[in-house]
Amino acid sequence: MQFTVAIDGPAAAGKGTIARALAERFRLAVLDTGLLYRAVGARRLAGEDPVAAARALSPEDLTGNLRSNAVAEAASQVAAIPEVRAALLDFQRAFARREGGAILDGRDIGTVICPEAEVKLYVTASPEVRAERRWKELGGDYEAVLAEVIKRDRRDSERTEAPLRPAPDAHILDTSQMTIPEAVAEAARLVQARL
Ligand code: C5P
Repeated sequence: MQFTVAIDGPAAAGKGTIARALAERFRLAVLDTGLLYRAVGARRLAGEDPVAAARALSPEDLTGNLRSNAVAEAASQVAAIPEVRAALLDFQRAFARREGGAILDGRDIGTVICPEAEVKLYVTASPEVRAERRWKELGGDYEAVLAEVIKRDRRDSERTEAPLRPAPDAHILDTSQMTIPEAVAEAARLVQARL
């Protein structure tokens, strides 16, 4: 069976939480594609050429601490480089169409990686709500976290290559006023309807 759930949306909207919950519930493989860009960003911070790093990416690069704001910012910068995106394309496409079904979360899954996905979700929330979630997770100064979220959203949405935007046939899920169980239940209902 090939069955792809594409989950896109801005930072800290709840994509990862929803993706992992759906993966467990429907027994589908899951890939956090942001980790690929974070791993390339981390290697760039270590002084490597981002295109070479993307071409040489290996599973070991996806472990370690990639959750910091500095790595997120570097990820968003390298993600705007077309050659970096091209180097990561085949792996993501193959994952999306793997036997048994898959869920991928990112920014361009429903628009570029897998436009044929059976279910497309665009998970979003207000910048203030997303910044508060990030701030509770990582700490620091709330205003600085909010500014970082807004800056990264803008870069991800305004880049020429695979910009962040909902696919025309995506279901929009605004989680601003939703609890995690509510958001997961709504996403699960949409997946169930297509299975
Ligand atoms: O989702 P996460 O916050 O981990 O992603 C980090 C960065 O990687 C994003 O801000 C975005 O620039 C980039 N990204 C992307 N395409 C994806 C996933 C992530 O451009 N499919």
